[in-house]
Formats: sequence, C-alpha cells, structure tokens
Amino acid sequence: MSPADISKIEEILSSPKNIVITTHRSPDADALGSSLGLCHFLKKFEHHVNVITPNSYPEFLHWMPGHKEVINYETQKKVAKAIVKNADLIFCLDYNILKRMEEFGEVVGKTTALKILIDHHQQPDSFPDFILSDVTASSTAQLIFNFIETLKGEKYIDKDIAECLYAGIMTDSGNFRFSTTTTETHRVVSKLLEAGVRPDKIYTLIFDDNTQERMNLLGHTLLNKLKYFPEFHTSMISLTRDELKQFRYRQGDTEGFVNYPLSIKGVKFSALMIEKKDLVKLSFRSKGNFSVNKFARLHFSGGGHDNAAGGESRISLDETVTKFISLLPQYKEELLKEK
Ligand code: 5GP
Ligand code: MN
Repeated sequence: MSPADISKIEEILSSPKNIVITTHRSPDADALGSSLGLCHFLKKFEHHVNVITPNSYPEFLHWMPGHKEVINYETQKKVAKAIVKNADLIFCLDYNILKRMEEFGEVVGKTTALKILIDHHQQPDSFPDFILSDVTASSTAQLIFNFIETLKGEKYIDKDIAECLYAGIMTDSGNFRFSTTTTETHRVVSKLLEAGVRPDKIYTLIFDDNTQERMNLLGHTLLNKLKYFPEFHTSMISLTRDELKQFRYRQGDTEGFVNYPLSIKGVKFSALMIEKKDLVKLSFRSKGNFSVNKFARLHFSGGGHDNAAGGESRISLDETVTKFISLLPQYKEELLKEK
C-alpha cells in the first residue's frame, strides 16, 4: 500500500461510509478476528459497518465480541445482497481470490464499491482497488493492527478489538511457533496485551471447547486412520462422512488434525482429507522448503501458504487418497532434501 493509497483511504474514511467486511468461506479465528477487530475499530468513527461471512463458523468462535451481529450469507442472502449493493467500501480480509467466498464472491465481484484487500496468502488477485498483502505476516490480524497504526488509530484499540486480533494472531501462528512468528508478531502482541488481552483466557475459549465425541474422533483417527509413508517423509489421514457422523461431528471438530501427522519425527508433509457432501476437502501442512501451496494449486484446485494450504477434490474419497499417494514419487527428491 503506497503513501498515495493511504492518503486516499484516509480521505475516504474521513466521512461516514457504508462499509462491508468480508472474509473467506468457513472462517477461522484469523478470518473472523480480523473482521470483527476491524469492524469495532471502524464503528468508532460513525461508519455503518457490517461483517458478512459466506457461511457459518465453529462454535468455539462465538465468544468473539460482535459475533451476534455477523450476517451469514448462506442463510440471509437477501439481506446480505442488499447491504453489499449499498456499500461504499468493501474490505476483503484473509483471502486472496474471490473464489474463496464461492457464491458470495460473485456478489461482491459485481459491485462497484471500492475494495480494500488485507491478506497474507500468496498470489493476491488484482480485483481490489487497494492491496495490503504481506505473505510473510503471521496472520491477517497482524496486518489489521498495522493498518490501524497506519491510520494513526492505535489509541482506539480497546479490549474488544485487541481480543479479536489476538485470537487471529495466536491461532494462525500456531500458538507462536510457526516460522512466520517474528519480532513484529511479538511487538504487535505486546501492544494487544497492553490493551487488556489475557492470553490464558483466549487460549481456553478457543482450544478448551472440545466435546468428548471430538476427543474420541481424534483417538479413532490417530489409532486407525493415520497412514505413514517413511520413504516420502509423508503422512496422511482421511475421514469418511460415516466416521464423522459416528462421532457426532460438529463444524470445526477436525480443525488441527492435520498437524498430528506432521509431529512424527522426520515427517515433512502431511495431508488431511475429509469427505463432504459433494466434494473432498483437503488440508496440507509442511515443514521446511516443500511448498504445499504449489502442491495444492497444481493438483487440488487450491492454494494458501508455503507451509499451510488447502484444496478440494471432486472425485470420491478413495480415489482422492489414491491420487494423493500416486503423486508422491514425483516429489520424492524434494521431500527427502534436507531443510
Ligand atoms: P486449512 O487447512 O486450515 O483449512 O487451510 C490452510 C490454508 O490454506 C489457509 O490459509 C487457507 O486459506 C488455505 N486454503 C484452504 N483451503 C483452500 C482452498 O480450497 N483454496 C485455496 N486457494 N486456499 C485454501
Ligand atoms: Mn489467516
């Protein structure tokens, strides 16, 4: 974002506007925390602000201040379309292409409202009027903090804003352990703690929300469903719809499962495949130089970051597993490389 861009945005925000904040489908804590954090900030300046998500999100995010006002496009299409039509300004947070919002992306794509993208995924699209993209940032929430600083708004960051942003940074940085965790991450977090965040409280709200069924599903998954391919430094998990049903699956229950295979010593590449109603959803994680973003884009119509990406498959779960395994030999050299 150039100084000229910032001046233009300051000028736009200097009088009350109709603002819509959007984020990717199946919002995670970074997507929702960035959206609500920015929403609370903008509301301090007389703007009319709505957060619209493409669909619902897990219950462990319902504690976030402002959750009750969030509009779910999937269940409130008419309302959402009317609000988007009336918008002067649309923020696009934590996604790089409109396709990440599926049908709601088409609605946003058709409007003439000015669009500001703030994101940390690779290959940001050219549709927005203003782009604040940093693929090295731990999270979009960290970039929202920077954006607020750029607007000289740091003094307006209250506990509600700080809790939303902290949740995004904490989760997207893997609780401050991924390589994207930098001095900048900790600088921002220290400011958020000064604004009143209690790390133990936020951690508990997000991670200590399990049902017994989820714990049992995790046990079943690790005991019966983990496949390990030592010759490729790769491990994977696949879960059928029947298995999810058996353990009374709630949205978000498989969140984080993809990290378990990666904790096997030597494993550099892990995959999680979940059978959905009419597609298979894939999550990928890696350590070191193996780019799962590239892998997901090339083979599973997806994308993301170098070490965390996702995609989808329109063939059966069994066929998807077979396809995944058959792809490994061509990456053998890359996967066996040190680092
Ligand atoms: P997760 O595995 O946690 O769902 O997603 C990991 C990363 O990959 C996230 O940054 C997410 O935005 C990205 N991602 C997940 N699924 C998709 C997808 O279908 N398409 C694209 N382009 N990115 C995805
Ligand atoms: Mn993110």
